[in-house]
Amino acid sequence: MHRVRMPLYLLALTFLMLSSAWLWRLDGQTAQPTATVFEGARLITGDGSSPIENSAFIVSGDKFTQVGRRGELRIPAGAAHVDLTGKTVMPALIDLHGHIGFQNVMQGTMSKAFYTRENLIDHLERLAYNGVGATVGVGDLEDRSDLRGGRTNWGDVPLQVRKEVIPNAALFRTAGTGIAWPGSGPQGDPSRVDVPYPVSTVEEARAAVQDYVRMKPEFIKIWVDDRGGTKKTLTPPLYRAIAEEAHKYNVPVGVHNVTLANAKELMRAGVEGWLHVPVRGGEAVDDELIAVVKQRIARNDRPKMWMTPALITAWMDTQGGKRPPWLDDPLLRDTYSPGQIEEYWGRPLAKMTPEQVERVRRDFELQASNAMKLRAAGMRIVSGTDTGQTRFLIGYFNQLDLESMVAMGLTPSEAIVAATRDPAEIARINAGLVRAGKSADFIVLDANPLEKIGNSRRINQVYLRGQKVDRSALNAKWLAEQNHATKSSLNNSKQK
Ligand SMILES: [Zn+2]
Repeated sequence: MHRVRMPLYLLALTFLMLSSAWLWRLDGQTAQPTATVFEGARLITGDGSSPIENSAFIVSGDKFTQVGRRGELRIPAGAAHVDLTGKTVMPALIDLHGHIGFQNVMQGTMSKAFYTRENLIDHLERLAYNGVGATVGVGDLEDRSDLRGGRTNWGDVPLQVRKEVIPNAALFRTAGTGIAWPGSGPQGDPSRVDVPYPVSTVEEARAAVQDYVRMKPEFIKIWVDDRGGTKKTLTPPLYRAIAEEAHKYNVPVGVHNVTLANAKELMRAGVEGWLHVPVRGGEAVDDELIAVVKQRIARNDRPKMWMTPALITAWMDTQGGKRPPWLDDPLLRDTYSPGQIEEYWGRPLAKMTPEQVERVRRDFELQASNAMKLRAAGMRIVSGTDTGQTRFLIGYFNQLDLESMVAMGLTPSEAIVAATRDPAEIARINAGLVRAGKSADFIVLDANPLEKIGNSRRINQVYLRGQKVDRSALNAKWLAEQNHATKSSLNNSKQK
């Protein structure tokens, strides 16, 4: 390669041309507002305080920069204004217990083969559409040690997607594959059953944790559930070894647990999170468990303990025998076909006998009372949907989780904190609050959820990272896919 020597006048000319082009572009840019002021809404900030009536907040780039009352902010020159008079604004929701990626939502089927970047993003779009800004996947499909010197070779889709900021989609974080006694992890569809590390000795338990922490999970998920005596499960020596090993690496542990006895042992082992109500097999929380929780807090021993009650399906079943109004909610119909809604919930609920409904109602009340007692002792209730089966409606379940938490006994304001600020803190996501410096993730509502929590579903707009989610484009995409699916199933039935 030889160097070209440019005559001075040509260089000057080039510089002039470049700089005028630059100036022209700068002009074009100054016409674009540097910030946007959203004014006039009732603002629920997500910290549990009284809402700010006639609020104003400024979004610059992907962050909130000022939050307060209309007329009291320093408005930057050239800022755009959005009038939200008559609307209510709340932070976007955060889900600490998702199982997304395995479903083909249109077909209503599940498989490891569906776990692609494209499908995971489709689910993150469904979450964004419903006002969810971030989710933590649990039991995700990614490569792990098989504990016999080999690897599963399941790829790294969750690890790649968690690094991305995808327009019109919720942020994704992962708690990895999980650890369980062989075959006793997630049940239901076989695609998820063998995902966790299968451990049955203390050595395997420690080896699994050592491999697990390398993918930097939000927490280590374990299952302690013998499925009504039909399966073996992690024993106390195994889960103690897991907790001890995880804590060496400063990684928290989240558990799916059922019995009171295991809840006590897990609590003593320093486990931080519960992916359901800690005691939920028909037993009641007792004073001894309450005392262990209080002792943990008193001696500052991993004092931030949380649970995602995920009582959504139980709460939905308490409405069996009749037709609950949410079945006809336009928001639900935006992402699921009428046929799917009837198949998953409409018909099963209609078929329930009064005795079945009564049994479910009693179970819901016992679990709710267990959760509220533990909350009173100092544990936090946070939102998590457990969307691991096709009838666990992705996105819409985040909305029903809010309503089921109110049915458990939280106030609407407490339920909103449980679905915004608190899960954000646990997942270490800079969101969940309308506050200067936080990610500008918020929902504009046509009605006030503090009056009636179901109003959180009256979504007017969703903004994530300061950008309006293009909900009509997403809606059009899913509608086209639904029409296509209906056509091809018609064609299939003709061929039969
Ligand atoms: Zn789950």
